[in-house]
Amino acid sequence: MTLINDFMSLIYPRYCEACDGLLYKHEAIICNKCVVSLPKSNFHINPNNPILLALGGRIPLKNATSLLLFEKEGRVQNLLHALKYEKQQIVGIKLGEELYKHVKLSDFLSTIDVIVPVPLHPKKLKQRGFNQSECFAKGIAEQSKIKLDTGTLIREHETSTQTKKRKYERWENVKDVFAITSAEKFKNKHVLLVDDVITTGATLEGVWQALKEVEGIQLSVASIAYAVNT
Ligand SMILES: [Zn+2]
Repeated sequence: MTLINDFMSLIYPRYCEACDGLLYKHEAIICNKCVVSLPKSNFHINPNNPILLALGGRIPLKNATSLLLFEKEGRVQNLLHALKYEKQQIVGIKLGEELYKHVKLSDFLSTIDVIVPVPLHPKKLKQRGFNQSECFAKGIAEQSKIKLDTGTLIREHETSTQTKKRKYERWENVKDVFAITSAEKFKNKHVLLVDDVITTGATLEGVWQALKEVEGIQLSVASIAYAVNT
């Protein structure tokens, strides 16, 4: 089997989606060197992390983390690009698995009842073919054996791109965008809301508007990357 694997990797070399280096046969998607050295946030063990600080007071978050710190034109950017634009869903799943490994020694996931990815608008979903946040959520759910819910939180309206907007405009942009199809599903549940990149947290605020009336709900968030808002 090893001989066949060696032979196959000679004919079909595989490359790391982060650094573009050649993958060894025991490696998949991301090389071990990148897995170890990619810039991790460690926010899950930092009660003063920037996501909690930015959203504190506006959303009653239990906890918040991000697997990675966003770096422009670097390996993190390569990973997000592969997931979003090269439609490599497997990259999202792999990053979800890595998030699980990143937090599993802490109690970050211990009280989570259900994992909910930030939904795309149906039109956008049709265009892209998949929801990148859902791939990430799937990776976490498979490893942690926590239930994944992709049908209860929905995006009712399309939003224009967030990146060039001011804070207030971003908030206006996501207000009344999300809704839930059943409050019962999240009643007395600790929901882990999962997004691809967190910048201002405006999207998360928009989601909270849809969730806040649910009785006994608790909310934590996790993302692939956290980008400092500039
Ligand atoms: Zn690499």
